[in-house]
Amino acid sequence: MDYQQLIEEVYREVQAENLKGKVADYIPEIATVDPNQFGIALVDLKGNLYGVGDYLTPFSIQSISKVHTLTMVFHRFNSKLWSRVNVEPSGNPFNSIAQLEYENGIPRNPFINAGALVITDALCSKFENPLEQISAFINEIAGCDCVRINQAVMNSEKNNAARNTALAYFLKSYNNFENSIEEVLDVYFSHCAMEMSCVELAKTFSFLANDGYSIYANREILSESHARRVNALMLTCGFYDEAGEFAYKVGLPGKSGVGGGVAAVMPHKFSIAVWSPELNEKGNSVKSIRALELLTDKLAFSLF
Ligand code: GLU
Repeated sequence: MDYQQLIEEVYREVQAENLKGKVADYIPEIATVDPNQFGIALVDLKGNLYGVGDYLTPFSIQSISKVHTLTMVFHRFNSKLWSRVNVEPSGNPFNSIAQLEYENGIPRNPFINAGALVITDALCSKFENPLEQISAFINEIAGCDCVRINQAVMNSEKNNAARNTALAYFLKSYNNFENSIEEVLDVYFSHCAMEMSCVELAKTFSFLANDGYSIYANREILSESHARRVNALMLTCGFYDEAGEFAYKVGLPGKSGVGGGVAAVMPHKFSIAVWSPELNEKGNSVKSIRALELLTDKLAFSLF
């Protein structure tokens, strides 16, 4: 399979469709990006890199960072954490409060905001300096010094934090929150404000295509069975309330973010990151989703 030719073909076809969406504006700083950018990077398990379009331009990875933070605490799920977060698709918007109330403060999964806040809270309990640990971890699995936190994006979200703050207080009222709300939110907004290019992001997902082993860090990041479970969670919960449709159309485990990025893996083959800022009404990048749909249609193999 000539991956470079494949992604170039996908890129051209998506551009020709002239798809339109809307840049996320509830984080004002994110709304300032040029909406026409579009890039694809694919990394195979030998470390060969393929890219097209704006694949070297850093963008705000937002919720995609929830996969990294989940990975850092995953082994702890065997014990206490599973009682704090579930593993079911939410079928609701990522920042829904209603569901959290009628399910007694236990978030549906680690990728909706409430669930990700519980994960970040667990990281704050585990580490003295969680943000440094998150950055170091991501740099290690990408094999480069690539994590940058965009302070303007972080502040912009912090100044528009009513919903996430409400979720955190809600969790606390159900005793599902261990640390100070302000501390956890700061760490959460900071890891969401990390910027990476498509290539860097695809590298950070490589271990999930490789049974948990990172060719960049030269070590097992997750056991094979844990890597399989993170992939299962991405397949069922990685795309807000559009996860079913993504699984139906694309059929790859992946995670999207409101910055317009999507990272996905084809187990035992490659990891891929696609980015374009304009989103559909569910909060997923219009071009990125379409690109992955075309890509899996053109591939001679699939997950299923
Ligand atoms: N930081 C964003 C929020 O909490 C992340 C949203 C996303 O990418 O889904 O609203």
